[in-house]
Amino acid sequence: MSLVDTRTPDPKKFIKGAMGDWEMVIGLEVHAQVTSNSKLFSGASTEFGNAPNDNVSLVDAAMPGMLPVINEECVRQAVRTGLGLKAEINLKSVFDRKNYFYPDLPQGYQISQFKQPIVGEGIVYLDMPDERVEVGVERLHLEQDAGKSMHDQHPTMSFVDLNRSGVALMEIVSKPDIRSSDEAKAYLTKLRTILRYLGTCDGNMEQGSMRADINVSVRKPGGDFGTRCEIKNVNSIRFAGQAIEYEARRQIGILEDGGSIDQETRLFDPGRGETRSMRSKEEAHDYRYFPDPDLLPLVFDQAFVDDLASHLPELPDDKKARFVADFGLSAYDADILVAEKISADFFEAVAKGRDAKLSANWVINELFGRLNKEGHDVTTSPVSADQLGGIIDLIVAGEISGKIAKDLFEIVWSEGGDPAAIVETRGMKQVTDLGAIEAIVNEIVEANPEKAEQAREKPGLLGWFVGQVMKASQGKANPKAVNDLLRKKIGID
Ligand code: ADP
Ligand code: MG
Repeated sequence: MSLVDTRTPDPKKFIKGAMGDWEMVIGLEVHAQVTSNSKLFSGASTEFGNAPNDNVSLVDAAMPGMLPVINEECVRQAVRTGLGLKAEINLKSVFDRKNYFYPDLPQGYQISQFKQPIVGEGIVYLDMPDERVEVGVERLHLEQDAGKSMHDQHPTMSFVDLNRSGVALMEIVSKPDIRSSDEAKAYLTKLRTILRYLGTCDGNMEQGSMRADINVSVRKPGGDFGTRCEIKNVNSIRFAGQAIEYEARRQIGILEDGGSIDQETRLFDPGRGETRSMRSKEEAHDYRYFPDPDLLPLVFDQAFVDDLASHLPELPDDKKARFVADFGLSAYDADILVAEKISADFFEAVAKGRDAKLSANWVINELFGRLNKEGHDVTTSPVSADQLGGIIDLIVAGEISGKIAKDLFEIVWSEGGDPAAIVETRGMKQVTDLGAIEAIVNEIVEANPEKAEQAREKPGLLGWFVGQVMKASQGKANPKAVNDLLRKKIGID
C-alpha cells in the first residue's frame, strides 16, 4: 500500500508529550460478517447462537475432495457495500489461499483475496463537530471466517466449534487517514451505519459480526509516518477509543525515552485498559498466498453492478443532506435522525404533512430522550409515529399548550390511546375563552398590587404573573392570551 498523507496537521488533535507535540496516525481494518443465509463457499447456515457444530457442511469441515462453490448472494452483498462506499468495483477478482495452521482452521488455509480484491478504493465521510473528514478506503475483499476454539469448558481439553468456519467476511481496509480516537470511533460508527442501511452486515459488535484491527502509530506533527502497532480484534467502539488512547501514549513514552517502536501485533485488555504484545514482526507468519486452484477468478459484468447500483437504498449522507435541504433541519438534528435507518423512517412518518422542525424536536427531545432513559429503542417505542403526530397536531391546532402536550405524551407513553380522544375525555383542552382567562388575570393582578407596580417599571417581571396564571388554570390557559391580557391589565405597552 502506498502511504500518502491527505491530512493537514491539526493542533487541536496533538498529544502533548514531555518533548513537544505528537500526532496520531490510525488506519483500521474492519471485518464485517456478510448478511446472508449461507456461508461463502457452502450451503451451511450462518444462524447465530446454534449449538456448537450445528452449522457445518463437509466443505466447512474440509473433508477431502470437497470443493468450494461461491455463494452469489455474498458477492452481491460485497458489491453493494463497495457501491455504498463510493468505491471502484473490480469486475475481475481472485481468491487466494492464506496458509497457516490453527486448530479452528480445518483446511489449513483461509480463502481470502490478496492482490486482486473485489472492491478497490472508496471513501467514508465523517461529520465531526467542526469539520468534515474524508477517510479513504483502500480496499474491500471477501474472505472466510475461521472457527472458534474453546479452552474454558474443561480442565484438560479444548474444543472446536466450526459454526463460524467458512462464514463470509468483508475486510474493509482504511487508509491511514485517521488522526484521533474520536475520528476512529466516528469512522467505525459511520461504517456500521452504512452497512446497516445497505443490509450487508448487521454491525452487531457484541456478537462478533463486526470487529476491528486498529493500526496506530505516532509521529511529530506532519512528519514521516512512524512504525505502527496493530491491535487485533477489538469488538466495541468504546474499546477502540480506549485502546488507541493507551497505545499512542505508550508509543510516545518509548520514543521520548530514546527507544524505538517494534512493529508488533497487540491485544487490548478492556479490564486493565491496556494493550499488550501478542507477537512481533519477526514472529509474523509468512502466509504463502497463492491463487486457490479450486476456484476460478470471480468475474461479472458491468450490467450486474449497474443493476445493484440502481437498487441501493438512500444512504445516510444523502438522507442527511435531504433532511437539511428539504426540511430545514440543523445538521446536528439530521445527524441524530439518520444514525439509524429506523429512526430516520420514524421521523419521516411523523413529519409527513406536518411541520418538520417541530416534528424533529418532538422525536429527538421528547421521544428519543425518553427511549434512551428507559433503555428502549425506536423498534420498541410505546408511542407510535401516528400517536406522536397526533400530539403535534393538537399543539399546532392550538388545542393544547406545550406544557399539556408533555403531560399528554406521558399518558400516551404509559397508557396508549388516541391523543385527541384523551384530550377530550380528560378535559385537557387549552382555554382560549378570553373571558375565563381574564377573570384569573384580574384576580391575580389585584391580589398582588406591589408586584404589578414593579412589573410596570420592569416588564421582565411579567413572567412571574404568567406563571401564576398558568398555574391557576392548571396549564390550560393559552399562553399568548395570558400574556396579552396581563400586559393590558397591568398597563405595559
Ligand atoms: P498489512 O496488510 O500488513 O496489515 P497494510 O499496509 O495493508 O498492512 O495496512 C494495514 C492497515 O494499516 C491499513 O488500514 C493502513 O491504513 C494502516 N497503516 C499503514 N501504515 C500505518 C502507519 N504508519 N500508522 C498507522 N496505520 C497505518
Ligand atoms: Mg493487517
